[in-house]
Amino acid sequence: MALDSLAVDAWLKDFASEIHDNAELLTDLDREIGDGDHGINMDRGMRAVAALNPSEFPAAADYLKKAGMTLVSTVGGASGPLYGTFFLRVGMAWTTVEDAASLGLALRTGLDGIIQRGKASIGDKTLVDALSPALDAFDAHASEGISAALAAAALACAEGRDGTIPLIAHKGRASYLGERSAGHQDPGATSMTMLVEAASRTLS
Ligand code: ADP
Ligand code: MG
Repeated sequence: MALDSLAVDAWLKDFASEIHDNAELLTDLDREIGDGDHGINMDRGMRAVAALNPSEFPAAADYLKKAGMTLVSTVGGASGPLYGTFFLRVGMAWTTVEDAASLGLALRTGLDGIIQRGKASIGDKTLVDALSPALDAFDAHASEGISAALAAAALACAEGRDGTIPLIAHKGRASYLGERSAGHQDPGATSMTMLVEAASRTLS
């Protein structure tokens, strides 16, 4: 069965409410190594996404692309264009999503877009450090089906998030702190884990 617009709606709304409930945590993390706006940025963007009317987007791919454009246009800061690009690219690849293999490919298209846009590598202490191992875990479990693959991805994503704590930032505002960025959890990796956990709850 294809993952349709209703599934995407559940994913986006679950993520939006998770971001809203944790906006303060995300902002506090960003205050430690950035400018203290990550929770505010993401909440503004995901509120706008959650306000979209799913019945206007019968095709899941169009819904995802609209979500991406909404994030780009409503979120200032690095995270808006990065999350926006993610959803745009996932949307472009979504037309064929109906099993774990094609879902994994669509999500990886999104990660590739983030890397193209932000030029971050693994170990730079960004959301890439959460999403990249998550998608590797997804692929490793894809033969077991979407639920198992997403559950493995969510676990690996949280591990990647926790793994950002000792890292020294090489991208984004946190990189201005140099070695002083070590010892703090990356805010973007934290919100990214919420996105993958939301996918695991809603797309399974
Ligand atoms: P800003 O840094 O502009 O204030 P946010 O606070 O909303 O934007 O987002 C910060 C998060 O964005 C960081 O925690 C990091 O995960 C992510 N980020 C920043 N720059 C990059 C980049 N070049 N590539 C990938 N992720 C990045
Ligand atoms: Mg910030």
